[in-house]
Amino acid sequence: MTESTGKPAGAGVSLNPRDLDIFEFARSAREAAGAVRLSQLPRMLNEVPADAPDRDTVFTWQAAGFTQQELQDDGTEGPQPYLRLAIHGSAWLTCQRCIGPYEQAFNADPVFRIVQTEEEADEFPLDDDDADVIVGSRHFDLVDLIEEELLLSLPLVPKHEVCPAIHESLASGADGAEGVDSVDDVPEQEVETEERVNPFAALESLKKDGPGSKH
Ligand SMILES: [Zn+2]
Repeated sequence: MTESTGKPAGAGVSLNPRDLDIFEFARSAREAAGAVRLSQLPRMLNEVPADAPDRDTVFTWQAAGFTQQELQDDGTEGPQPYLRLAIHGSAWLTCQRCIGPYEQAFNADPVFRIVQTEEEADEFPLDDDDADVIVGSRHFDLVDLIEEELLLSLPLVPKHEVCPAIHESLASGADGAEGVDSVDDVPEQEVETEERVNPFAALESLKKDGPGSKH
């Protein structure tokens, strides 16, 4: 335990973020950083529309472990493990106002109190605003925690700050020309009264109605 190698803790040691001894990580005050692609996060990928310009955006993350002297269950003071995370990146979501895809930024920096068991997690007061509680493991999946945090950061109602009249990436898409043909085949009234309006059809009619949009 006290064997000294003369190396600073954590230096030059590569970590597997999918299999991390999170207790050791916190106790040794280690730090790690990396990047995770959206395609590695299946639950987040569910939120990304099929017509998004990019379905494999990247999130960068940093993790830092630390401990804090706290009163333990047995009445003595002891080092309580914590994990601080920082996550930055973006994902394409569907705007609930215009049904077009838009790029949502994600910036989260949660702090987690690491406990040993589910029971211990349940005991922790929920009104603590400073830290969320996670049950630690010697084989902790940090990528899973990152995905969890991103899901919690999803906006309640995803939408553009300002919706574009015609979303450029859709209007200038390579499929645009074919889209015009297929929409033209359908009588105009039928398109307008259709209950679930196809976003492409809606854009095409906007284009037709818009002044000077022909080029
Ligand atoms: Zn919009």
